[in-house]
Amino acid sequence: MTKSHLFPEDIERLMGKDAQRNNILAAKMVSEIVKTTLGPRGMDKMLVSPSNDIIVTNDGVTILTEMQIEHPAAKMMVEIAKTQEKEVGDGTTSAVMIAGKLLENAEKLLDQKIHPTVIVKGYQMAQAKAQEILKENALEITPDNEEILKQIAMTAMTGKGAENSKETFANIVVEAVRMVREEKSVDMEDIKIEKSLGEGVEDSELIKGIVMDKERISKDMPKIVENAKIALVDFPLELKNLDIDTKISLTSPDQLQDFLSREEEMIREMVDKVVSTGANVIFCQKGVDDFARYLLARVGIYTCRRVSRNDMEKISKATGARIISNLNELSLHDLGDAQVVEEVKKGNDAFTYIRGCKNPKAVTILIHGGTTHVIDEIERAIMDGLGDVISTINTGLIVAGGGAIEIEVARKLREYSQTINGRERLAVEEFANALEFIPITLAENAGLDPIDILTELKAKHNIGERNYGLNLFTNKIENVLGSRILEPYKVKAQAINSATEVANMILRIDDVIASKPNKKGNMNFAGARPDYLDNLE
Ligand code: ADP
Ligand code: MG
Repeated sequence: MTKSHLFPEDIERLMGKDAQRNNILAAKMVSEIVKTTLGPRGMDKMLVSPSNDIIVTNDGVTILTEMQIEHPAAKMMVEIAKTQEKEVGDGTTSAVMIAGKLLENAEKLLDQKIHPTVIVKGYQMAQAKAQEILKENALEITPDNEEILKQIAMTAMTGKGAENSKETFANIVVEAVRMVREEKSVDMEDIKIEKSLGEGVEDSELIKGIVMDKERISKDMPKIVENAKIALVDFPLELKNLDIDTKISLTSPDQLQDFLSREEEMIREMVDKVVSTGANVIFCQKGVDDFARYLLARVGIYTCRRVSRNDMEKISKATGARIISNLNELSLHDLGDAQVVEEVKKGNDAFTYIRGCKNPKAVTILIHGGTTHVIDEIERAIMDGLGDVISTINTGLIVAGGGAIEIEVARKLREYSQTINGRERLAVEEFANALEFIPITLAENAGLDPIDILTELKAKHNIGERNYGLNLFTNKIENVLGSRILEPYKVKAQAINSATEVANMILRIDDVIASKPNKKGNMNFAGARPDYLDNLE
């Protein structure tokens, strides 16, 4: 370790080769961690938090965020997983693996005394070319092609918790997207995921409306309302709080009584007003007090209180109700419609179902399952499926999975590298090698011989069979378009793009200056802890 006297004692510094090697090592370690989860035969990881909470997952981004990684370069790797998750919702493991391999291969070039800036330049050239090749090899599909969309969802969910019911879930995912889609744009926010413990995974369902974990506020209210007319109010239905809101001087008990009756009168008016519009259901974002509750129950209005803003907005989209902030505005037109509003108890949980909405612009996927671990992992699988279906609709482009597209891009990149004269050519070749890490790992995780598989795949692609990939249902190398192993183009484009970005960013670093925590345990800057340097050695 190189100490610098420029800095105070508590600053640690790694320079030049040390800094590079240390960062590359950390990035490789991150990629090694997630590697075994890749693909349908990937294994799961069990993560145990300090408070003994357990997560069992196969999802790259979940593993990395839960691990609370400290090393700054490793953290940058975690960031690509997060970006990938945010941008497309799937492909997080692949993105991290490609980045790790790009860095590992860069190390080989560094060993040959190739300057990092040359590698960075070569990687940039390769990434630009790879994007072109990806586009050329993508197939167009329309949002109406629901069979293909289902296949995309199934490929995304293969090997995850949802594996056994992936057909059910693929149908649910595609149907949900169809309902909320406007032309080619789909907002993930319009699809709510609600989880219910108990019953089997197969009982999971798509609700044409919203399900929320709220119960009606009084047993005297109806448990089920048909032909619901729903009012959404975001003001409280309660007496003003005497302590906070009002300063009045009361000199006699009569005055107090008088004051309270006036307040009660106001509540009565509020409730009458809502009833007069014809509403038979009220969802209130704020509180509803005992008196209002009593009045509402008496007229048989199903009421929930303290509904989250998020749910209010979703109910508005699903039922067409307008969220009202001022009672004077409320009219029949502001009410939303649903066939049924109903309270359903499941074990200890109570839900309100708003179902049978005519043309809902927001829907709910209700996941059932025996344990929270199962439900959570299914939720992650569904999020992958949703992300993939949505990004397919957005771009209208798909590619062949099972490593087919990676092999093809690598092959074309090697052709391209032949046209480059400088040493960047070597970097372009290493970029191609890095992409092959995906099919290699798919094979490895399934217990197949990666060298055999890679050789066979390359041979097929060399004779123009560009959609040949590894089908892990049959363990055969075949045209995977035919076997419907399909992935969105966007997942691959984003993974390659952000993997290159982070690899290049890490390669450009030749100086790490990290401050030790000071005596109070505070970080001096950047939150970087020098301990990581020791941990890696
Ligand atoms: P990621 O987080 O990168 O999406 P996954 O564990 O979901 O990681 O694995 C995705 C990879 O698995 C993709 O390369 C995809 O083509 C591949 N894959 C999915 N289903 C199959 C299959 N039946 N046969 C072979 N490969 C598959
Ligand atoms: Mg995936």
